[in-house]
Amino acid sequence: MAQLNATEQRQRLNQALPQSERFSTRLERKDQLDVLQINLGRLCNMRCSHCHVAAGPDQGHTQMGGEVVEQCLEAMERLQPQVVDLTGGAPELHQSFRQLVLRARQLGCRVIDRCNLTVLLLPALADLADFLAEQSVEIVASLPGPEVLETDRQRGTGTWDASMQALRRLNALGYGHEGTGLQLNLMSNPDGETLQQLTPCDTARWRSVLAEHGVVFNDLIGLNNMPIARFLEDLDQQGRIGPYLKTLKAAYNPCSVMGLMCRNTLSVSSSGKLFDCDFNQMLELPLELELSSVRAEDLQGRGIMTANHCFGCTAGQGSSCGGATVTTATSSPSN
Ligand code: SF4
Ligand code: SF4
Repeated sequence: MAQLNATEQRQRLNQALPQSERFSTRLERKDQLDVLQINLGRLCNMRCSHCHVAAGPDQGHTQMGGEVVEQCLEAMERLQPQVVDLTGGAPELHQSFRQLVLRARQLGCRVIDRCNLTVLLLPALADLADFLAEQSVEIVASLPGPEVLETDRQRGTGTWDASMQALRRLNALGYGHEGTGLQLNLMSNPDGETLQQLTPCDTARWRSVLAEHGVVFNDLIGLNNMPIARFLEDLDQQGRIGPYLKTLKAAYNPCSVMGLMCRNTLSVSSSGKLFDCDFNQMLELPLELELSSVRAEDLQGRGIMTANHCFGCTAGQGSSCGGATVTTATSSPSN
Protein backbone atom coordinates (compact mmCIF):
# COMPACT_ATOMS: atom_id res chain seq x y z
CA MET A 1 0.00 0.00 0.00
CA ALA A 2 1.21 3.48 -0.78
CA GLN A 3 2.37 5.28 2.37
CA LEU A 4 0.81 8.52 1.19
CA ASN A 5 -2.97 8.33 0.89
CA ALA A 6 -4.74 9.92 -2.07
CA THR A 7 -5.41 13.20 -0.24
CA GLU A 8 -1.78 13.51 0.79
CA GLN A 9 -0.64 12.74 -2.75
CA ARG A 10 -2.93 15.41 -4.19
CA GLN A 11 -1.67 17.91 -1.60
CA ARG A 12 2.00 17.13 -2.34
CA LEU A 13 1.41 17.52 -6.08
CA ASN A 14 -0.57 20.70 -5.63
CA GLN A 15 1.89 22.37 -3.28
CA ALA A 16 4.96 21.46 -5.32
CA LEU A 17 4.26 24.22 -7.84
CA PRO A 18 3.14 27.82 -7.28
CA GLN A 19 -0.45 28.61 -8.30
CA SER A 20 0.65 30.35 -11.49
CA GLU A 21 2.56 27.27 -12.69
CA ARG A 22 -0.07 24.61 -12.04
CA PHE A 23 -1.60 22.50 -14.78
CA SER A 24 -4.22 24.70 -16.41
CA THR A 25 -5.09 23.16 -19.79
CA ARG A 26 -8.81 22.52 -20.01
CA LEU A 27 -9.32 18.99 -21.26
CA GLU A 28 -12.61 17.79 -22.68
CA ARG A 29 -13.84 14.37 -23.61
CA LYS A 30 -14.45 13.44 -27.22
CA ASP A 31 -17.98 12.73 -28.33
CA GLN A 32 -17.34 9.03 -28.57
CA LEU A 33 -16.40 6.60 -25.82
CA ASP A 34 -13.90 4.13 -27.27
CA VAL A 35 -12.41 2.33 -24.30
CA LEU A 36 -13.90 0.85 -21.16
CA GLN A 37 -10.96 0.27 -18.86
CA ILE A 38 -11.66 -2.00 -15.92
CA ASN A 39 -9.27 -2.13 -12.99
CA LEU A 40 -9.87 -5.46 -11.29
CA GLY A 41 -7.87 -4.62 -8.17
CA ARG A 42 -4.32 -4.20 -6.98
CA LEU A 43 -3.47 -7.84 -6.36
CA CYS A 44 -0.25 -8.63 -8.20
CA ASN A 45 2.40 -11.32 -8.02
CA MET A 46 5.04 -8.55 -8.24
CA ARG A 47 5.84 -5.30 -6.45
CA CYS A 48 7.61 -2.92 -8.83
CA SER A 49 9.32 0.25 -7.66
CA HIS A 50 7.59 2.45 -10.25
CA CYS A 51 4.07 0.94 -9.84
CA HIS A 52 1.55 3.78 -10.10
CA VAL A 53 -1.18 1.72 -8.45
CA ALA A 54 0.94 0.45 -5.52
CA ALA A 55 0.05 -3.14 -6.35
CA GLY A 56 1.47 -6.21 -4.68
CA PRO A 57 0.86 -9.74 -3.39
CA ASP A 58 -0.78 -8.38 -0.20
CA GLN A 59 -3.56 -6.52 -2.05
CA GLY A 60 -6.12 -9.33 -2.29
CA HIS A 61 -8.61 -7.27 -0.30
CA THR A 62 -8.74 -4.71 -3.12
CA GLN A 63 -10.11 -7.16 -5.71
CA MET A 64 -13.35 -6.19 -7.48
CA GLY A 65 -16.43 -7.72 -5.87
CA GLY A 66 -18.99 -9.88 -7.70
CA GLU A 67 -21.68 -7.18 -7.76
CA VAL A 68 -19.33 -4.71 -9.46
CA VAL A 69 -18.25 -7.38 -11.95
CA GLU A 70 -21.93 -7.81 -12.88
CA GLN A 71 -22.28 -4.05 -13.33
CA CYS A 72 -19.20 -4.05 -15.59
CA LEU A 73 -20.73 -6.80 -17.74
CA GLU A 74 -23.93 -4.76 -18.06
CA ALA A 75 -21.96 -1.58 -18.78
CA MET A 76 -20.17 -3.30 -21.67
CA GLU A 77 -23.54 -3.94 -23.33
CA ARG A 78 -24.92 -0.48 -22.59
CA LEU A 79 -21.82 1.54 -23.55
CA GLN A 80 -20.73 -0.63 -26.49
CA PRO A 81 -17.04 0.35 -26.32
CA GLN A 82 -14.75 -0.69 -29.14
CA VAL A 83 -12.18 -1.82 -26.59
CA VAL A 84 -12.37 -3.43 -23.17
CA ASP A 85 -9.06 -2.87 -21.41
CA LEU A 86 -8.42 -5.09 -18.38
CA THR A 87 -5.88 -3.85 -15.88
CA GLY A 88 -4.87 -4.18 -12.25
CA GLY A 89 -2.60 -5.25 -10.43
CA ALA A 90 -2.34 -8.39 -12.43
CA PRO A 91 -5.89 -8.59 -13.82
CA GLU A 92 -5.49 -12.28 -14.69
CA LEU A 93 -5.43 -13.10 -10.96
CA HIS A 94 -9.08 -12.04 -10.62
CA GLN A 95 -11.50 -14.94 -10.58
CA SER A 96 -13.80 -13.17 -13.09
CA PHE A 97 -11.06 -12.24 -15.56
CA ARG A 98 -12.03 -14.95 -18.06
CA GLN A 99 -15.74 -14.23 -17.73
CA LEU A 100 -15.11 -10.58 -18.60
CA VAL A 101 -12.92 -11.52 -21.57
CA LEU A 102 -15.48 -13.98 -22.93
CA ARG A 103 -18.38 -11.54 -22.66
CA ALA A 104 -16.43 -8.69 -24.24
CA ARG A 105 -15.41 -10.90 -27.15
CA GLN A 106 -19.01 -12.08 -27.60
CA LEU A 107 -20.01 -8.42 -27.85
CA GLY A 108 -17.39 -7.89 -30.56
CA CYS A 109 -15.02 -5.76 -28.49
CA ARG A 110 -11.28 -5.85 -28.82
CA VAL A 111 -9.88 -6.93 -25.48
CA ILE A 112 -6.57 -5.75 -24.05
CA ASP A 113 -4.86 -7.56 -21.20
CA ARG A 114 -2.25 -5.44 -19.40
CA CYS A 115 0.03 -8.28 -18.51
CA ASN A 116 3.17 -8.29 -16.37
CA LEU A 117 4.38 -11.46 -18.17
CA THR A 118 5.56 -13.27 -15.04
CA VAL A 119 1.93 -14.04 -14.15
CA LEU A 120 1.87 -16.38 -17.17
CA LEU A 121 4.38 -18.64 -15.41
CA LEU A 122 2.35 -19.19 -12.25
CA PRO A 123 1.52 -22.91 -12.01
CA ALA A 124 -2.12 -22.14 -11.16
CA LEU A 125 -2.45 -20.20 -14.46
CA ALA A 126 -0.71 -22.74 -16.70
CA ASP A 127 -3.50 -22.53 -19.31
CA LEU A 128 -3.77 -18.73 -19.29
CA ALA A 129 -1.61 -18.08 -22.36
CA ASP A 130 -3.65 -20.58 -24.41
CA PHE A 131 -6.89 -18.94 -23.26
CA LEU A 132 -5.65 -15.48 -24.27
CA ALA A 133 -4.63 -16.76 -27.71
CA GLU A 134 -7.94 -18.60 -28.24
CA GLN A 135 -9.82 -15.37 -27.51
CA SER A 136 -7.44 -13.22 -29.60
CA VAL A 137 -6.82 -11.01 -26.58
CA GLU A 138 -4.28 -8.26 -27.29
CA ILE A 139 -1.43 -8.26 -24.81
CA VAL A 140 0.27 -5.13 -23.61
CA ALA A 141 3.22 -6.48 -21.68
CA SER A 142 5.20 -4.25 -19.40
CA LEU A 143 8.97 -4.55 -19.65
CA PRO A 144 11.07 -1.65 -18.31
CA GLY A 145 13.97 -2.09 -20.72
CA PRO A 146 15.68 -4.45 -23.13
CA GLU A 147 18.37 -5.38 -20.61
CA VAL A 148 18.44 -7.53 -17.53
CA LEU A 149 19.83 -4.84 -15.18
CA GLU A 150 17.16 -2.20 -15.81
CA THR A 151 14.35 -4.73 -15.67
CA ASP A 152 15.48 -6.48 -12.51
CA ARG A 153 16.20 -3.16 -10.76
CA GLN A 154 12.61 -1.95 -11.29
CA ARG A 155 10.81 -5.27 -10.96
CA GLY A 156 12.99 -7.51 -8.81
CA THR A 157 15.76 -10.02 -9.39
CA GLY A 158 14.92 -12.76 -11.87
CA THR A 159 12.17 -10.77 -13.61
CA TRP A 160 14.12 -10.49 -16.86
CA ASP A 161 14.61 -14.24 -17.22
CA ALA A 162 10.98 -14.93 -16.30
CA SER A 163 9.78 -12.28 -18.76
CA MET A 164 11.84 -13.77 -21.60
CA GLN A 165 10.42 -17.20 -20.81
CA ALA A 166 6.86 -15.86 -20.85
CA LEU A 167 7.45 -13.97 -24.11
CA ARG A 168 8.83 -17.07 -25.82
CA ARG A 169 5.73 -18.93 -24.69
CA LEU A 170 3.48 -16.26 -26.21
CA ASN A 171 5.54 -16.27 -29.41
CA ALA A 172 5.10 -20.05 -29.66
CA LEU A 173 1.33 -19.48 -29.67
CA GLY A 174 1.65 -16.97 -32.51
CA TYR A 175 1.80 -13.74 -30.49
CA GLY A 176 4.09 -11.08 -31.91
CA HIS A 177 4.26 -12.63 -35.38
CA GLU A 178 2.84 -10.69 -38.33
CA GLY A 179 -0.30 -12.17 -39.83
CA THR A 180 -1.45 -14.22 -36.84
CA GLY A 181 -3.78 -11.52 -35.49
CA LEU A 182 -2.26 -12.03 -32.05
CA GLN A 183 -0.96 -8.63 -31.02
CA LEU A 184 1.88 -8.45 -28.52
CA ASN A 185 3.02 -4.94 -27.63
CA LEU A 186 5.74 -4.15 -25.14
CA MET A 187 5.39 -1.16 -22.88
CA SER A 188 8.46 0.40 -21.35
CA ASN A 189 8.95 3.17 -18.88
CA PRO A 190 12.22 4.98 -18.21
CA ASP A 191 14.05 4.90 -14.93
CA GLY A 192 13.40 7.69 -12.44
CA GLU A 193 12.97 11.24 -13.71
CA THR A 194 14.06 10.63 -17.30
CA LEU A 195 11.37 11.42 -19.88
CA GLN A 196 10.27 8.70 -22.25
CA GLN A 197 11.82 9.36 -25.66
CA LEU A 198 11.27 6.30 -27.82
CA THR A 199 12.44 6.56 -31.43
CA PRO A 200 12.39 4.07 -34.32
CA CYS A 201 16.04 3.42 -33.45
CA ASP A 202 15.01 2.33 -29.94
CA THR A 203 12.45 -0.06 -31.38
CA ALA A 204 15.08 -1.50 -33.70
CA ARG A 205 17.47 -1.93 -30.78
CA TRP A 206 14.82 -3.70 -28.70
CA ARG A 207 14.03 -6.01 -31.63
CA SER A 208 17.68 -6.84 -32.07
CA VAL A 209 18.37 -7.48 -28.38
CA LEU A 210 15.23 -9.52 -27.78
CA ALA A 211 15.83 -11.56 -30.95
CA GLU A 212 18.99 -12.82 -29.28
CA HIS A 213 16.69 -14.26 -26.63
CA GLY A 214 14.38 -15.80 -29.21
CA VAL A 215 11.68 -13.16 -28.66
CA VAL A 216 9.64 -11.16 -31.20
CA PHE A 217 6.97 -8.51 -30.63
CA ASN A 218 4.72 -6.22 -32.68
CA ASP A 219 5.14 -2.70 -31.29
CA LEU A 220 7.11 -0.95 -28.57
CA ILE A 221 5.25 1.75 -26.67
CA GLY A 222 6.39 3.92 -23.79
CA LEU A 223 5.15 5.96 -20.86
CA ASN A 224 6.59 8.74 -18.75
CA ASN A 225 6.80 7.84 -15.09
CA MET A 226 3.70 9.28 -13.44
CA PRO A 227 4.27 11.19 -10.19
CA ILE A 228 1.78 9.02 -8.32
CA ALA A 229 1.93 6.35 -5.57
CA ARG A 230 5.36 4.70 -5.09
CA PHE A 231 7.20 6.95 -7.52
CA LEU A 232 5.68 10.05 -5.89
CA GLU A 233 6.78 8.75 -2.48
CA ASP A 234 10.33 8.27 -3.79
CA LEU A 235 10.31 11.80 -5.17
CA ASP A 236 8.89 13.10 -1.89
CA GLN A 237 11.59 11.44 0.18
CA GLN A 238 14.25 12.99 -2.05
CA GLY A 239 12.58 16.42 -2.12
CA ARG A 240 12.19 16.00 -5.88
CA ILE A 241 8.45 16.41 -6.53
CA GLY A 242 8.79 20.08 -7.53
CA PRO A 243 11.87 19.56 -9.75
CA TYR A 244 10.26 16.58 -11.51
CA LEU A 245 7.02 18.49 -12.12
CA LYS A 246 9.08 21.37 -13.51
CA THR A 247 10.89 18.95 -15.84
CA LEU A 248 7.54 17.65 -17.06
CA LYS A 249 6.10 21.15 -17.38
CA ALA A 250 9.13 22.39 -19.34
CA ALA A 251 8.51 19.53 -21.78
CA TYR A 252 4.76 20.28 -22.06
CA ASN A 253 3.66 19.39 -25.57
CA PRO A 254 0.33 20.89 -26.66
CA CYS A 255 0.16 18.36 -29.50
CA SER A 256 -0.06 15.54 -26.95
CA VAL A 257 -3.52 16.59 -25.82
CA MET A 258 -5.49 15.18 -28.73
CA GLY A 259 -4.44 11.61 -27.98
CA LEU A 260 -4.81 11.60 -24.21
CA MET A 261 -6.61 8.51 -22.99
CA CYS A 262 -8.90 10.48 -20.68
CA ARG A 263 -10.60 11.90 -23.78
CA ASN A 264 -12.08 8.61 -24.98
CA THR A 265 -11.81 6.24 -22.01
CA LEU A 266 -14.00 5.48 -19.03
CA SER A 267 -12.03 4.00 -16.17
CA VAL A 268 -13.79 1.77 -13.63
CA SER A 269 -12.19 1.13 -10.25
CA SER A 270 -12.47 -2.16 -8.41
CA SER A 271 -15.03 -0.54 -6.09
CA GLY A 272 -17.17 0.45 -9.10
CA LYS A 273 -16.43 4.17 -9.08
CA LEU A 274 -15.90 5.93 -12.41
CA PHE A 275 -12.93 8.06 -13.42
CA ASP A 276 -11.45 9.81 -16.44
CA CYS A 277 -8.34 7.65 -16.19
CA ASP A 278 -6.43 5.16 -14.09
CA PHE A 279 -4.26 7.93 -12.64
CA ASN A 280 -7.25 9.90 -11.42
CA GLN A 281 -8.41 6.66 -9.84
CA MET A 282 -5.25 6.51 -7.75
CA LEU A 283 -5.65 10.14 -6.69
CA GLU A 284 -9.37 9.60 -5.97
CA LEU A 285 -10.72 12.19 -8.40
CA PRO A 286 -14.01 10.45 -9.32
CA LEU A 287 -16.74 11.37 -11.78
CA GLU A 288 -20.19 12.01 -10.40
CA LEU A 289 -21.69 9.19 -12.43
CA GLU A 290 -22.79 5.67 -11.49
CA LEU A 291 -21.49 2.48 -13.13
CA SER A 292 -24.96 0.94 -12.90
CA SER A 293 -26.53 3.68 -14.99
CA VAL A 294 -23.84 5.56 -16.95
CA ARG A 295 -24.55 6.04 -20.66
CA ALA A 296 -22.22 7.12 -23.44
CA GLU A 297 -24.19 10.39 -23.80
CA ASP A 298 -23.34 11.29 -20.19
CA LEU A 299 -19.68 11.51 -21.16
CA GLN A 300 -19.86 13.44 -24.45
CA GLY A 301 -17.90 16.71 -24.30
CA ARG A 302 -17.64 16.54 -20.53
CA GLY A 303 -14.77 18.41 -18.81
CA ILE A 304 -11.97 16.21 -17.46
CA MET A 305 -10.69 16.36 -13.88
CA THR A 306 -7.08 17.57 -14.11
CA ALA A 307 -4.28 18.50 -11.71
CA ASN A 308 -0.48 18.70 -11.71
CA HIS A 309 -0.03 14.95 -12.33
CA CYS A 310 -1.42 15.62 -15.83
CA PHE A 311 1.98 17.12 -16.71
CA GLY A 312 3.12 13.47 -16.78
CA CYS A 313 0.82 12.68 -19.71
CA THR A 314 1.46 15.88 -21.65
CA ALA A 315 5.27 16.00 -21.52
CA GLY A 316 7.50 15.15 -24.45
CA GLN A 317 5.93 12.58 -26.71
CA GLY A 318 2.84 12.44 -24.53
CA SER A 319 1.93 9.42 -22.50
CA SER A 320 -1.18 7.33 -22.64
CA CYS A 321 -2.31 3.73 -22.23
CA GLY A 322 -1.38 3.24 -25.86
CA GLY A 323 2.04 4.83 -25.37
CA ALA A 324 3.14 8.12 -26.93
CA THR A 325 0.32 10.35 -28.14
CA VAL A 326 2.50 12.10 -30.74
CA THR A 327 5.64 11.18 -32.64
CA THR A 328 7.49 14.42 -31.98
CA ALA A 329 8.36 15.99 -28.66
CA THR A 330 7.69 19.67 -29.42
CA SER A 331 7.70 21.51 -26.10
CA SER A 332 5.98 24.68 -25.07
CA PRO A 333 6.85 26.88 -22.09
CA SER A 334 3.26 26.98 -20.83
CA ASN A 335 0.13 24.88 -20.73
S1 SF4 B 1 3.60 -5.81 -12.38
FE1 SF4 B 1 2.46 -3.94 -12.86
S2 SF4 B 1 0.75 -3.90 -11.40
FE2 SF4 B 1 2.24 -5.41 -10.64
S3 SF4 B 1 3.50 -4.23 -9.19
FE3 SF4 B 1 4.54 -4.18 -11.20
S4 SF4 B 1 3.82 -2.28 -12.20
FE4 SF4 B 1 2.42 -2.74 -10.48
S1 SF4 C 1 -3.57 12.04 -15.71
FE1 SF4 C 1 -3.37 12.01 -17.94
S2 SF4 C 1 -5.03 10.73 -18.65
FE2 SF4 C 1 -5.52 11.32 -16.55
S3 SF4 C 1 -6.75 13.19 -16.68
FE3 SF4 C 1 -4.63 13.83 -16.52
S4 SF4 C 1 -3.92 14.07 -18.66
FE4 SF4 C 1 -5.78 12.84 -18.69
